[in-house]
Amino acid sequence: AGKRVLIVYAHQEPKSFNGSLLKIAVEELTKQGCSVTVSDLYAMQFEPRATRNDIVGRLHNSEAFNYGVETWEAYKRGGLSKDLVEEQKKVQEADLLIFQFPLFWFNMPAILKGWMDRVLVQGFAYDLSKAYDGGLLQGKLSLFSFTTGGSKEMYSKEGIGGDIRYVLWPMQHGIMHFCGVKVLEPHICYAPENVSEEKRKEMLTAWTQRLKTLWKEEPIDCSPQWYFK
Ligand code: FAD
Ligand code: ZN
Repeated sequence: AGKRVLIVYAHQEPKSFNGSLLKIAVEELTKQGCSVTVSDLYAMQFEPRATRNDIVGRLHNSEAFNYGVETWEAYKRGGLSKDLVEEQKKVQEADLLIFQFPLFWFNMPAILKGWMDRVLVQGFAYDLSKAYDGGLLQGKLSLFSFTTGGSKEMYSKEGIGGDIRYVLWPMQHGIMHFCGVKVLEPHICYAPENVSEEKRKEMLTAWTQRLKTLWKEEPIDCSPQWYFK
């Protein structure tokens, strides 16, 4: 209760399985007394491209554009574009970040990757020698909740897709841990399109159940061994 949650959601269709997972999270967490904010990226027509437009006013170096340097400098002087400032404020205020999306090409959809690229600016999310456990977003939790087309068997170590943890490595370790954010166990709904209606209902109930005790969970040990041992 009293916790603040930001859900960054990337699906075009509210009636989708991802849409149902989002709805459940909003309802259950609100019921617990959490304050829940949703960034519905497609509905917001969120800009995924990292460009010059993200900097308001003069560039630090107008001779040769360097996105990382320019956004870092712009962050320091309060010169990031309005949409980025708004997302950063939501992140700043959140105790928990939930990312809800369908797996696209072993990764997050481009619109969500663009959110990561543009919002988690140097100076805001990490800095020189302030990364991983020293990242600037320390004290926050994250949870990747996603759906797949492939089955659980396909995403096992011996399966055709390999262990699902290989997919989690860039997201959980490369982004969240890098920024100092602790990582809760991912929540994966395998192949909602290919299972029975009954199984789908079961998966949705499991998500509700998990959310009920979410605040008692310990973060994973987000080290290379967790992913590749
Ligand atoms: P939906 O099709 O929206 O939902 C599945 C079913 O659940 C639908 O029949 C829907 O009506 C029903 N449903 C919704 N809400 C409820 C409810 N409350 N109760 C009961 N039923 C409900 N998959 C991989 O595994 N690996 C990949 O690399 C990969 N790459 C992809 C790349 C692209 C570009 C695309 C488009 C897809 C890719 N996929 C991949 C597949 C993708 O991950 C799945 O299609 C997606 O995860 C399914 O989720 P959804 O929310 O879109 O499902
Ligand atoms: Zn890690």
